[in-house]
Amino acid sequence: PEYGQSEPWYPTPRGGTVKLWENSYQRAAELVGQMSLPEKVNITTGIGWSMGMCVGNTGPVDRLGFPSLCLQDGPLGLRFVDNATAFPAAITVGATWNKQLMYDRGRAHGLEARLKGINVLLGPSMGPLGRLPAGGRNWEGFGSDPVLQGIAAAETIRGIQSEGVVATAKHYVANEQEHFRQAWEWGTPSALSSNIDDRTMHEIYAWPFAESVRAGVGSVMCSYNLVNNSYACQNSKLMNGLLKDELGFQGFIQSDWLAQRSGVASALAGLDMTMPGDGLGWQDGKSLWGAELTKAVFNSSVPMDRLNDMVLRIVAAWYQLAQDDTARWPNTTSGGGPNFSSWTDDEYGQLHPGSPDSEETGVVNQFVPVRQTEEGGDHDTLVRVMATEGIVMVKNELGILPIPRSVQGIKTKGSGGKLRVGIFGEDAYPNSKGNNACPDRGCNEGTLAMGWGSGAVELPYLVSPAEALHREFDSETVEVTDWKTNSINRVDGTAAAQNLCLVFINSDAGEGFISWNGIKGDRNDLYSQKGGDDLVRQVAANCGGKNENGEPASDTIVVLHTVGPTIIEKWIDMPGVKGVLIAHLPGQESGNALADVLFGAYSPSGHLPYTIAKREEDYGPTSGILRYPNAVVPQQNFTEGLYIDYRYFDKHDITPRYAFGFGLSYTTFELDKLVVSAPANLTGTEAPPVSSHDRLEPPHLDPSIPDAKTALWPKGLRKLKGYVYPWITSVDEVQTGHYPYPDGYEHWHAPSAAGGGEGGNPALYKTVVAVKASLKNTGSVTGDAVVQVYVSLPTDALDSMDNTLDVPVRQLRNFDKFSLDVGAELAVQMNLTRKDLSYWDIGRQNWVLPKGEFDICLGFSSRDEKMRCEKLALF
Ligand code: BGC
Ligand code: BGC
Repeated sequence: PEYGQSEPWYPTPRGGTVKLWENSYQRAAELVGQMSLPEKVNITTGIGWSMGMCVGNTGPVDRLGFPSLCLQDGPLGLRFVDNATAFPAAITVGATWNKQLMYDRGRAHGLEARLKGINVLLGPSMGPLGRLPAGGRNWEGFGSDPVLQGIAAAETIRGIQSEGVVATAKHYVANEQEHFRQAWEWGTPSALSSNIDDRTMHEIYAWPFAESVRAGVGSVMCSYNLVNNSYACQNSKLMNGLLKDELGFQGFIQSDWLAQRSGVASALAGLDMTMPGDGLGWQDGKSLWGAELTKAVFNSSVPMDRLNDMVLRIVAAWYQLAQDDTARWPNTTSGGGPNFSSWTDDEYGQLHPGSPDSEETGVVNQFVPVRQTEEGGDHDTLVRVMATEGIVMVKNELGILPIPRSVQGIKTKGSGGKLRVGIFGEDAYPNSKGNNACPDRGCNEGTLAMGWGSGAVELPYLVSPAEALHREFDSETVEVTDWKTNSINRVDGTAAAQNLCLVFINSDAGEGFISWNGIKGDRNDLYSQKGGDDLVRQVAANCGGKNENGEPASDTIVVLHTVGPTIIEKWIDMPGVKGVLIAHLPGQESGNALADVLFGAYSPSGHLPYTIAKREEDYGPTSGILRYPNAVVPQQNFTEGLYIDYRYFDKHDITPRYAFGFGLSYTTFELDKLVVSAPANLTGTEAPPVSSHDRLEPPHLDPSIPDAKTALWPKGLRKLKGYVYPWITSVDEVQTGHYPYPDGYEHWHAPSAAGGGEGGNPALYKTVVAVKASLKNTGSVTGDAVVQVYVSLPTDALDSMDNTLDVPVRQLRNFDKFSLDVGAELAVQMNLTRKDLSYWDIGRQNWVLPKGEFDICLGFSSRDEKMRCEKLALF
């Protein structure tokens, strides 16, 4: 197709083609085979915004014991839920580069969800991927690189699903900015179109979704925006083609909330569930599915086969996660549903609060505590560990850090014998109006623990940095002074009186349905907010007063809480600024995590999950938010292709302030003796296609259309206003003759050569080379090292169209974190798969191993000067 256009891909591949899901599909087929048409429809359609207890609720099939499913946000904890954990945000988790922690967080998150009766968690998020450094929701994902996102998402999914909860990979795909993500919030006739070429789609934006599917994810959420001028939730190429055929996705696709923009077209393009079920507006009761889908199936506008497949996919996912297990799901399997309400904090409340007719009330909140349980242990402690490992130390001059608790060694400035430490900035202190004062954390007040929107949660508590510092400094020898605002009015005097200054600043962003202080989701610039930079400048210039050289006599340490890349040029080179910690979004254990690093209980091991530039322009001409519509359907061309974040900096030889993957430690590490093994498992430049014997035949359900009378309103059922139902009131509502099927509908597609298993052809994920090295702790404290594998594809290879292959200078392909005592030496190994060494060839429509010389490198950042590299030719 032409650039910016999406080709048709029909019909929807049916689920049930892979061995791992076989049993679940068989059981699903047995159950769904007994369902009437409206019962099937009920499972595909939400009952409407706030008509049930969760942010999304499907219709149940009581007769057969299939419950209403509770779908709840989000990626960092349980939204609108009491007594649950506020985990660190995904950007913080990305900064840990710790696969085990990624899994552990998912598992803890999944357990809490199950104990609250949540069937489907609306996370993890891997789109936005971070193309635009100011993107409002980047912090809900793991960092600006597909491999980091992919590994972190897969570990999170495995963790969540190990507890029997369906995870949701979202937002599929290319929802890179908040402005114009949909039409109604932004007053435009249409949402924005993200226009992406096929290779970039595969190598960047779809990559983490492939990893998610490979991890067995039960659900994918299609996004609000259009992709190549076709709405993501009715884009047949993306859903039918890429996700369900090529990536072999076996679960169900749900729409983002009101992202469904058509009834029949979305069904044919591969959508399986509409959320929250309302039509084009909130609580309008005019679903695009519900009774409309019932009618569309009766007149064949949507083939019965397609409806059967939608329902099979949803019910199979339910079996796949063993949610029929009555011991694990006592509430839902007995029809009891979740034990909390998203809509009130009271014990008693409305059962259908969204409907003006709602009269039914009952106990809606049982206040079940889930942070500490016998099964899950102590999640507060886990949060502290993750938040600690997510802190990136980018500057530590003269070993200012760690600070001794008694501050010995820091120059005294006579003040009754005590040393004086100043804490400066609102970001060190709690919001005086309360941790949860702003709905969905939609404001930047007090210390920043998470961004805002549906991805935020209620904080059960929040240990502020100031609280932890007051506790930790030895009060016998240290006097702590608080400066609780960002005001610089006379701050120089207070700073001058200190022996050490700690300044706290931040930068916040969030989802576009909330706008705070002129920030409509996406950040307006990449600087710290609320005058943070000015505060640092004033304090750092005056801390301890001036010495003979006119320089500040005492040192300043800056702590930055942030949603993403933040430009720090206004002060980073000031002589007084000796230490800088980027603490990201730590969640409830903020201060404790920081204290662990500041005082040396833990040697920092976080690395940047994105690049920090010196100037916003350095991210490239296409890296800005589109802030004014440029067409009726606002167009955003991803013409930079693969070149986002460090790939762009490398290509254009731009020096960043701090490179992607960078982070300091209290110790030092060395890599040596790099060995790249000879390639194994190679059968050609393309993986051998999966044979048709290895693709299962999906279960077959009766495709015939029942009598329309079977869908009539059940007698005696009261209709609630705004609520979504699957029934029709008269058979006359069914018009004869179906809509014309879309172009290409009758076209039979051979299965993709790149497909055949979950995540694509399983051969793509086989190890081709092993990278081995010796890793040594050469410093003076125990520490954790993050080892990163970067691959440079051959620069002289030709693609199938005989063009020289355009390749990034280097790309992250794997990483791991290792713990080492002082002097310890460890043999480390990391593997690279066929896919890791391939590019997506648009001519062949497959992953292809290029001929020529690769560079395989190991290092501690993408710009590590001591990176160890080996050359390798595969053929
Ligand atoms: C967000 C989703 C979220 C959904 C439900 C939407 O606005 O984009 O991420 O899961 O709301 O709250
Ligand atoms: C979000 C919901 C949110 C609602 C408020 C939507 O865009 O997805 O989660 O609560 O807006 O109107």
